[in-house]
Amino acid sequence: MKNNMIATQYDGKVLTEIAGFSISQLVAEQGSPIYLYDAEMIRERCADLQVFETVRFAQKACSNLSILALLKEQGIVVDAVSAGEVLRALAVGYSPTSNPPEIVYTSDIFDREALQVVAEHRIHCNLGSPEMIEQLAEVQPGAEVTLRINPGFGHGHSQKTNTGGPQSKHGIWHEQLPACLERAKACGLTVVGLHMHIGSGTDLEHLAQVCEAMEKCARLVGPSLKTISAGGGLPTVYRAGQTSMDLAQYHRLWDAVRNRLATEFGHAIGLELEPGRYLVAESGYLLAEIRAVKRMGENLFYLVDAGFNNLARPILYGAYHPMAICPVGGRASSENRDVVVGGPLCESGDIFTQEDGGVVSRRSLPTAQVGDILVIGCTGAYGSVMGSNYNSKPLAAEILLDRGVLRIIRHRQTVEELIANERSALETVVTR
Ligand SMILES: *Cc1c(COP(=O)(O)O)cnc(C)c1O
Repeated sequence: MKNNMIATQYDGKVLTEIAGFSISQLVAEQGSPIYLYDAEMIRERCADLQVFETVRFAQKACSNLSILALLKEQGIVVDAVSAGEVLRALAVGYSPTSNPPEIVYTSDIFDREALQVVAEHRIHCNLGSPEMIEQLAEVQPGAEVTLRINPGFGHGHSQKTNTGGPQSKHGIWHEQLPACLERAKACGLTVVGLHMHIGSGTDLEHLAQVCEAMEKCARLVGPSLKTISAGGGLPTVYRAGQTSMDLAQYHRLWDAVRNRLATEFGHAIGLELEPGRYLVAESGYLLAEIRAVKRMGENLFYLVDAGFNNLARPILYGAYHPMAICPVGGRASSENRDVVVGGPLCESGDIFTQEDGGVVSRRSLPTAQVGDILVIGCTGAYGSVMGSNYNSKPLAAEILLDRGVLRIIRHRQTVEELIANERSALETVVTR
């Protein structure tokens, strides 16, 4: 069965199946909350980007080993922003020494653990601060490196996801590129790549501005340059009224830059794209059971067993996620009501229907009762990876649905696992 259900098809409606699986049966068998991923949707999004020769997944968006393995099968390479993410990539078999490197470490610092892992596995690095040049040279003498440049402007769906301009901590400030090239040369590193990522969830207009900035910087590097990376930031359609990006047009812009540079430098220039959200957002669904339906003055609340410990995007960014109701026991509810949807946490900000600044809003959803299931869509990116143990809530289970097969790709954390590293005062070992 072809499954390409997009947000606007189920938002505010009754939904009983995902990728051919009964939602109520899944929750009856596996409990809640659950993160579900539709593998076919991920493959479809990979296929959309085929025109880009190298697609590097920003794994911070969804780093479950099975998701990485699925993307690897599709020919996608990975970006890692921490020692942990490098080790995840190695665990699913990505090779650090291939060309282009299948794993790139991108960060604005090397913490000591990252520097050690990068040295041990000879991971290619994309340096976001001048200090990293000498730090890397010490553990990887003579290495080839990429520099992440802050072009002086940025854009994102929220101020918190804007990663360019003077307010952003990311990258090497564009005016410092010549000095950093000197610095790299002085310690024996060769700059072979440039990278710019101006923000998450931006638009074509802003992304296109990066092309121009990239071309200027590339000329400063000169013919040692082998690759340019356009970063990520491709938007996802979360709700009606949002439009998807013209990928062909985006590719044409970058391809033109790459071709001009190739002619100038007399050799081929690789072009990389580094999406996170685009590849996985729409594949993910957070399923939660409605445990209370209560009225507070004029507001009707649906309270579910998932909170911002499971999905933080609404409280962090006022992000909108499509929602649907799966009735349990076959009670179809055709009538909608305007409701506020909240979670179980002991904090009033634990509301899924909120806007930027924490303003509580209402959502038109089918009439539901305790026991029905709330489906929160487009949660495959920055969903489970941002999960926390706040209120001592175990991390949710993760399940991958693929061609009629259901795979548990992360078992639900237990409270025993959650407290395993803690000791009560009496057995605490005191060292000094
Ligand atoms: C987060 C991030 C991305 C991915 O951003 P999306 O908006 O999810 O595409 C790409 N590159 C870098 C360096 C990032 O930090």
